[in-house]
Amino acid sequence: MSKSLLADASTRLEEALKYVSISEDAIERLKYPKASLIVSIPVRMDDGSLKIFQGYRVRYDDTRGPGKGGVRYHPKVSIDEVQSLAFWMTFKCALLDLPFGGAKGGITLNPKELSKQELERLSRGYIDAIADFVGPDVDILAPDVYTNEMIMGWMMDQYSIIQRKISPAVVTGKPVMMGGSQGRDAATGTGAFYVIHAMLAKFEQLPQKTTVAVQGFGNAGSVVAELLAKAGYQVVAISDSLGGIYAEKGLDITAIKQYKLEHKNISALYCENSVCSIVEHKVITNEELLSLDVDVLIPAALENQITAENAAQIQAKYIFEVANGPITSEADKILTAKGIYVFPDILVNAGGVTVSYFEWVQNRSGLYWRLTEVNERLKERMVNESEKVWSIAREFGVSLRTAAYVHALERLGEALDAKGTRDYYVNGK
Ligand code: NAD
Repeated sequence: MSKSLLADASTRLEEALKYVSISEDAIERLKYPKASLIVSIPVRMDDGSLKIFQGYRVRYDDTRGPGKGGVRYHPKVSIDEVQSLAFWMTFKCALLDLPFGGAKGGITLNPKELSKQELERLSRGYIDAIADFVGPDVDILAPDVYTNEMIMGWMMDQYSIIQRKISPAVVTGKPVMMGGSQGRDAATGTGAFYVIHAMLAKFEQLPQKTTVAVQGFGNAGSVVAELLAKAGYQVVAISDSLGGIYAEKGLDITAIKQYKLEHKNISALYCENSVCSIVEHKVITNEELLSLDVDVLIPAALENQITAENAAQIQAKYIFEVANGPITSEADKILTAKGIYVFPDILVNAGGVTVSYFEWVQNRSGLYWRLTEVNERLKERMVNESEKVWSIAREFGVSLRTAAYVHALERLGEALDAKGTRDYYVNGK
């Protein structure tokens, strides 16, 4: 039987535990999600029929603060997937030193099959079903795969209706007009760019001489691809769920983004005086993209893309995980043996949750920041924590992933031990 996603995620924890002194009690508590909720959401469809959807919310650990995590709409969403994503959020928030625990949510569906009205009824129904489980001081929602700011706006509005007061801080990633933060929409890609740029400098890898392939051209992937291209990197391949494109001389990412917006698919373009024409490019599959001979590979789609089956074919020198869990633990070993540097998801894609934290702070203080202020604070955190992970990796001679978990575990262990285990209930002290 294949290993569950959560069991696979926990493997990373076990490796890191060798390098950090943390109490047995704290370790034991980190092995299990604190609370998992499964709900049925009845939705009246446009044709008058009633359809029941399965939804989830998991709070993995809230020792360092309220749970924090996105909501995913995807046909493959399961309780196992949501639990592992909540596990990663726990470590990601600790790694970035955000005052949050880890949580995650999701609904099993193909959102492309629902009308906008059906999606709104479903999103509001999800909040009706989980309202007692979440809240600005308990567990805060955010966007993830196939959820966006429009959906976050509906969710915040529905929660406010239930509470009979405006509660913007229950959801981050909202439209700016509803209390969203400047820069949140692009935060994951922007944060990833700061990490990539800072870390590649350690290898004296000049942008103009660095080729990049990006798998997944959504919210996170398209932003990081565009920022890298603007900084002079040669982004030679990108892909989405329909497949990918490759052009040896590099792609005009800004033009492709515009084309995708208008045509819903990606095509290599060359733009001069804003008149764009299709340029010569190769159509490639997602599998081919992963094994391209490039310097940098950025998986920014879904989890489990690089596995024991295809890891041997990877040729990139550096992998930056923008997606959550794109590399299985078996594949990790193969990549490490090949000498490939893997910068882990909990560091690279933490820009989203970091600006979510900024949004929550702004909602609670009522004072809103300019985009430059948001990005300056984001850059400072992303680069500082990357530097710490880099130093830990060198100090212990471990992979960057293990170093990231060591760094997060130190903070988590300290918090868990400070909180204690509530033994006094048992001992009567
Ligand atoms: P998104 O829905 O905006 O984009 C996903 C992209 O992946 C789309 O371009 C889609 O076509 C593509 N895709 C889907 N299936 C694919 C496949 N089999 N092969 C190749 N491409 C495929 O989602 P997103 O918000 O960009 O999230 C992408 C990843 O980044 C996820 O793992 C998510 O958990 C992670 N992430 C996102 C955020 C955020 O703030 N958006 C934050 C942290 C982590």
